[in-house]
Amino acid sequence: MNLRLEDFRNIVFFTGAGMSKESGVPTYRGAGGIWGEYDYERYACQRAFDTNPEDVWEFHNFRRELYGKCPPNTAHRLVAELEDAHAVAVVTQNIDGLHQRAGSTDVIELHGSIWRLLCPRCDRTEEDRSAPLADPHCPDCGAWWRPAIVWFGDAVDRAVFQRANEALSAADLFVAIGTSAVVYPAAGLPRVAKAGGAAMVEVNPEETELSPLYDLHLRGPATEMLPRLITGS
Ligand code: NAD
Ligand code: ZN
Repeated sequence: MNLRLEDFRNIVFFTGAGMSKESGVPTYRGAGGIWGEYDYERYACQRAFDTNPEDVWEFHNFRRELYGKCPPNTAHRLVAELEDAHAVAVVTQNIDGLHQRAGSTDVIELHGSIWRLLCPRCDRTEEDRSAPLADPHCPDCGAWWRPAIVWFGDAVDRAVFQRANEALSAADLFVAIGTSAVVYPAAGLPRVAKAGGAAMVEVNPEETELSPLYDLHLRGPATEMLPRLITGS
C-alpha cells in the first residue's frame, strides 16, 4: 500500500515505549525492561505509595533523572514538524514528555506524566522538572506529592480517555508507533480509529497482537520508518 500524507487531514499518532527507545528510555517488557529490575508492587502502585512513599520516590527520582537526560529523537521531531501542514494529535502511553519537548502541541497523555505532580490530599497539581524532585511534599498541605501517572491497578483518567476517543474517531490516518498493544484500555484505541474509517499504519520492528488490524506495516525502528512514511518512499 502506498500512502501520501498530503491526502490526509487528521493524523493521529498513537505511541508507546518503542517510540522513545532510540532516545535511550528503556521499554518495560523485553530485554533491558525496567520491570525486570524493579518490582512494581514495591515501587509503582497505590499501595506502595500509601505504605512506603520514600521507596516509591526513590524509584521515580531514578526515572526522572534517566528520562531527563534522554533527548527527543528524529521520530519525535518529525511528528512535531507535521503540524506545519496537517492537523496532528498525539495519543501517547508514554510518560516521558518527549513529544512535547520535540514541539508537539496536542499531546494526550493516557498514562500521565512523570513531570507532573498531584497532591492526593488537596488536589493541587504542578509541573516540575527537577530530578531528583527538590521537595516531595505539597507546599499547601504538606502531604506527599504523588507522581501524576497511571500505576499498576490505577484506572486511566476518564476525561483523558474521552479526549483520546474523540481524536481517534476523527482520524483519517492512524499511525501506531512502538506499542506492543497489550495494555488495556489503551490497547483498544486502535479499533476506535479503524471503526471510524481511518487508514491504519503500524510502525514496529516486530509483529504485535493487533498487527492484522493495520493496512500498512513498517517493520523497523521509528527513526528509520518515519522518514519513509513522510517521504512516501
Ligand atoms: P512495550 O514495552 O510493551 O512495547 C514496546 C514496543 O515497541 C514493542 O512492540 C517493540 O517491538 C517496539 N519497539 C522496540 N523498539 C522500537 C523502535 N526503535 N521503534 C519502534 N518500535 C519499537 O510498551 P507499550 O506498548 O508502550 O506498553 C507498556 C506500558 O509502559 C505503556 O504504558 C508504556 O507507555 C509504558 N512505558 C512508558 C515509557 C516511556 O514513558 N518512555 C517507557 C516504558 C514503558
Ligand atoms: Zn496538598
